[in-house]
Amino acid sequence: MSGMRVRVAGAGVVGLTSALRLAEAGHQVEVIAAGLSESTTSSIAAALWYPYRAYPETAVTRWSAASFAALRALSADPRSGVRLCPGRELFRRPAPDPWWRSAVPELGRVSADQLPEGYLDGYLLTVPVVDMALHLAWLVARLRELGVGVEVQRLDDLDAAFTGVDVVVNCTGLGSRELAGDRTLSPVRGQVVVMEQFGLTEWLLDQSEPAELTYVVPRQSTVILGGTAEEGEADLEVRPAVTEAILARCRALVPEVAQARVLDHRVGVRPARPAVRLETEVRARGPVVHCYGHGGAGVTLSYGCAEDVVEQVRQLGQG
Ligand SMILES: Cc1cc2nc3c(=O)[nH]c(=O)nc-3n(C[C@H](O)[C@H](O)[C@H](O)COP(=O)(O)OP(=O)(O)OC[C@H]3O[C@@H](n4cnc5c(N)ncnc54)[C@H](O)[C@@H]3O)c2cc1C
Repeated sequence: MSGMRVRVAGAGVVGLTSALRLAEAGHQVEVIAAGLSESTTSSIAAALWYPYRAYPETAVTRWSAASFAALRALSADPRSGVRLCPGRELFRRPAPDPWWRSAVPELGRVSADQLPEGYLDGYLLTVPVVDMALHLAWLVARLRELGVGVEVQRLDDLDAAFTGVDVVVNCTGLGSRELAGDRTLSPVRGQVVVMEQFGLTEWLLDQSEPAELTYVVPRQSTVILGGTAEEGEADLEVRPAVTEAILARCRALVPEVAQARVLDHRVGVRPARPAVRLETEVRARGPVVHCYGHGGAGVTLSYGCAEDVVEQVRQLGQG
């Protein structure tokens, strides 16, 4: 059977990209979500293509590679909010190639004279950077062009999503703790500072000390400074002391930060899980394709996972 009726729960980057690929594959799709755009974790993401805090490594590498290709293709359209951006990851010790090396077409090394003081090694690579405000809006507009409705509706139970559809796709991120009763999902808090663009053209990342995660990611008109990864914390209040620490670490890497204006502060909670859950569960009301638990890499994995969601739905149609 082709052209199944599918309801996608969740309108973060995972739900919207899944809905897009499903609609492109000829399914009849609609999206429902408790919150849209600004209220999603996805809108907080930096959003640098980078496989961070998502598992297992083999699947994450495959999904990341597929998303890299999809995002690179989208970068040809400025309305998508996707750009290819060169950057450096810096290390205070010599670093082997990353486990996700095969997901990127090229990975260079920063030459010794280009390393800031205190650093001994660095990757040099060009990756997609996504302006999430633009990209989430672009995804919703693309979906509407394809006849896919995106409506606000909170679910208390996944079974309630089955009315009039053959399959439910669950992309509710951290919401799956309750909806799918999944206690392996846990929050990892992240705080960022949004600054005015001050002419920055490359991203920088230093995660040598996990407790001092530092990144500076340029967008068209803003620069995102981060960050934090606070395990088990879900408090969305901006913490001024954390802001000061982020600004100090970023100033040390990029001195121009000191002169630029702070525009905003954002806090989000990553949906962390020992492994991304991408599988079909057959319930009494029908099949649910789960796709959640993308940790710190939901943007990086989105299009790759969406392809696997389409494959799961295709297999259901054949069953
Ligand atoms: C500070 C920060 C920086 C980050 N930087 C990056 C980065 O550089 N690169 C990267 O790849 N990733 C990054 N991430 C991670 C990324 O943001 C997440 O992995 C991603 O947003 C997860 O997407 P999602 O669609 O699964 O979840 P969400 O964006 O949280 O969307 C979940 C959706 O489900 C809906 N929902 C939840 N519960 C219910 C319910 N009961 N009923 C109906 N709907 C429901 C919500 O309303 C929402 O629409 C960052 C995260 C943070 C916090």
